[in-house]
Amino acid sequence: MKLINTYDVLVMGAGPAALCIASELVQHGLKVGALASHSPEKPWPNTYGIWAEELESLGLASLLEHRWENTVSYFGNGANEKGRKSVSHNFDYGLFDQSVFQKALLDKCKDLAWFIETAQHIQYKDQITEVICTSSNLFRARVVIDASGHRTPFIKRPDHGAVAQQAAYGIVGRFSSAPVEKDQFVLMDFRPDHLSKSELKEPPTFLYAMDFGEGVFFVEETSLACSPPVSWSKLKERLFSRLSKRGVFIEETIHEEHCLFPMNLPLPYLNQPLLAFGGSASMVHPASGYMVGALLRRAPALAKELANSISQKPNLDSAKLAKRGWQVLWTPELVQRHRLYLFGLQRLMSFNESLLRNFFTTFFKLPKKDWSGFLANTLPLPKLILVMIRLFFISPVQVKLGMIGLVSHNK
Ligand SMILES: Cc1cc2nc3c(=O)[nH]c(=O)nc-3n(C[C@H](O)[C@H](O)[C@H](O)COP(=O)(O)OP(=O)(O)OC[C@H]3O[C@@H](n4cnc5c(N)ncnc54)[C@H](O)[C@@H]3O)c2cc1C
Repeated sequence: MKLINTYDVLVMGAGPAALCIASELVQHGLKVGALASHSPEKPWPNTYGIWAEELESLGLASLLEHRWENTVSYFGNGANEKGRKSVSHNFDYGLFDQSVFQKALLDKCKDLAWFIETAQHIQYKDQITEVICTSSNLFRARVVIDASGHRTPFIKRPDHGAVAQQAAYGIVGRFSSAPVEKDQFVLMDFRPDHLSKSELKEPPTFLYAMDFGEGVFFVEETSLACSPPVSWSKLKERLFSRLSKRGVFIEETIHEEHCLFPMNLPLPYLNQPLLAFGGSASMVHPASGYMVGALLRRAPALAKELANSISQKPNLDSAKLAKRGWQVLWTPELVQRHRLYLFGLQRLMSFNESLLRNFFTTFFKLPKKDWSGFLANTLPLPKLILVMIRLFFISPVQVKLGMIGLVSHNK
């Protein structure tokens, strides 16, 4: 084994989580190292979307490549039996410019030592952490942050049984006619008129779609959360039948997206000597599947805590440093909020498609600041509880019964 170097903090990964936390750590003058299985400059494979206000509040709205004012959903409870009436969100949504976002974070990390390595084994020795890579190279650090995504084998968490996953199959392409209106973003199109009676009993899926301009659109059939997940072949079949029902056919496929990630991964044990950030730290919002806004909001406090602890307490070992990090990353308030979201998700997963449509129709009747704060996880705990209570009271009886688990609708 060859010792490559010893750092204050070593970050593992090169996705959005790794770059967000590394770019904050280096601002504090710490000796930071980073390793990832591939170059941090390799373009990220996913397209990341976000409500524009989340970026505006961070002064980062310029990271958006696309921005839509015309943002709508369809819950099939509309003006006529086919439910053609849309619900207007009146709230801008955007897609990151991946290369600009990635470069902005990498620019902040330019003094950071980056190694193309795959971590294989992690051990704790003489109060510090050692990461041994598949190359047999060894890295040592006072504390290591695992930002290698939700599949990490290194972060320990309780086993709560099967994990529900969000799955989606999408196409960026050109179509025989516009699948959504010009300049429009569709958050959720739950209109069920293309589904057969037996399909209506299957796990519900919806269309997430947007106009990219110049005749290019992104259409993605998505399942909110399901265990086992809805297969990509089923999602593809549903997407095609949804489009063909509207007389829309694919003329050119520019890009295909296959999406699968956990929505209710249990929180990691908060007393382990290895820190995590991002998917590995279960930071995906259980209700929406979004995480990038949370990465940008939560990285500065974690970096500051580690910088203070490392510089002021030279004797703190990996376990104590990690503990301080975990306490900032998952404060008791954030843990409580996460529990509430998990509870909500659990209930939604028992809803059939008609109940789900009724639920979302009611959800978007909440004041905008309430539903958007709920989806971004920016409401303080007491406010979140009030919003959930309010949602309960304004819901139709069937939805209320579903929420309290008195009826299980997906049987
Ligand atoms: C298709 C898709 C679309 C999504 N869309 C959105 C969205 O629109 N908005 C949103 O907010 N969220 C979205 N998410 C959810 C979430 O934001 C993403 O999953 C996000 O990529 C997770 O970031 P991450 O950095 O934690 O992990 P990842 O992006 O998975 O990155 C993990 C990194 O770790 C590296 N790595 C893995 N193992 C090792 C190892 N052993 N040693 C060294 N390096 C290793 C990998 O090479 C990679 O660089 C989406 C997820 C998917 C899958």
